[in-house]
Amino acid sequence: MKHGEMTCQELILECLLEFEEGAMPEQERRELQRHFEMCPPCMNFLATYRATGKTLKMLKPTEIPPALAQTVLAFVRMRREKERG
Ligand SMILES: [Zn+2]
Repeated sequence: MKHGEMTCQELILECLLEFEEGAMPEQERRELQRHFEMCPPCMNFLATYRATGKTLKMLKPTEIPPALAQTVLAFVRMRREKERG
């Protein structure tokens, strides 16, 4: 895998479900948490994901880089479609 701007977010996307649902092992959780603290884009991403998951109305697009917001929205939509079956 190439280490570019997307790598970090793609990684977060892959483990975010486990992280949020508590399915992630404690050690990985802590490492991810540490990453969030050191990586503002990922922290934003987590905050956006949480806000989006609760209600789209709570999302404040001005506070989120457009590309990041799009990634989160696409992810949430994809997840909703999966849940709907
Ligand atoms: Zn990051």
